[in-house]
Amino acid sequence: MTWDENGKIWMDGEFIDWKDANIHVLSHVVHYGSSIFEGIRSYDSNGKAAVFRLKDHVKRLFESGKIYKMEIQHSESEIFEAIKETIAINDLKECYIRPISYRGYGQLGVNPLTSPVKTAIAVWSWGKYLGDDGLENGVNVGVSSWRRMAPNTLPSMSKAGANYMNSQLAKLEAIENNYDEALLLDSESYLSEGSGENIFLIKDDEIYTPSISSAILRGITRDSVIKLANDLGYEVREEKIPREMLYLADELFFTGTAAEVTPIRSVDGIEIATGKRGPITKKIQDEFFNIVEGKSEDKYNWLTYIDDSDKK
Ligand code: PMP
Repeated sequence: MTWDENGKIWMDGEFIDWKDANIHVLSHVVHYGSSIFEGIRSYDSNGKAAVFRLKDHVKRLFESGKIYKMEIQHSESEIFEAIKETIAINDLKECYIRPISYRGYGQLGVNPLTSPVKTAIAVWSWGKYLGDDGLENGVNVGVSSWRRMAPNTLPSMSKAGANYMNSQLAKLEAIENNYDEALLLDSESYLSEGSGENIFLIKDDEIYTPSISSAILRGITRDSVIKLANDLGYEVREEKIPREMLYLADELFFTGTAAEVTPIRSVDGIEIATGKRGPITKKIQDEFFNIVEGKSEDKYNWLTYIDDSDKK
């Protein structure tokens, strides 16, 4: 990950120098975790910045806010345009995009309604989240002793900052145990997701992924992969999946904006099949990267191109 500290960050309608993009220490979000955010990627598609599923990410940001009655002070189309402008002004093609809305400086106390809702957008270069090698050879993961939040505690379909305290516990444990990533089970001990990724499993030529009743974030890459798998002739079964299916799988992979499509080589020290990226995973990866890099037709209109006219 590379920050460009000479870059500009959008804060509620204005571009602020990177180093001045600060908030007050008594902002509500600092104390009570009251933020919602998105992670979006832009690719270099034949020399142009192409943002992957921008409209869907902006929609999910607003949906995350809706659950917490956090009213973003801009419309979806304003945020959509502001993201394009932020990429253009920072002259980036391949980048990671982080819009975030948060309860700002107002009053402290759990009641969030007395703090203003603020929004910021930052962009920066970020390579392969789980490593270049991971995309080809797969990563080693461990099932966490921490469970994903139960559905009647924190709603996993809101991409809220506070959810990532749960992710951090799992990630810390994974690091401690020398795994590349953690895998969490839901409160009933069915498969849920990684600390920042959804998971797919292939067994006897069938593709499975945990359903939305397993405390997952409804990943936009997950949705894209389901569509690509359907195009390849596979139906994806969204259901509750018992833990042991992990060890018996023919192929496993993670999906996510940061992780893209990353194969999993082992779980809890047990090798998955031959311990190499499987053929169906490779096919799905190829379909995905060909679209985002502009090498094959963008048949679902997933890409939003940025050009100089976006520098307003
Ligand atoms: N689950 C969690 C917990 C995540 O943080 C992410 C990354 N946003 C995902 C799944 C994957 O979602 P997406 O494909 O929309 O990035």
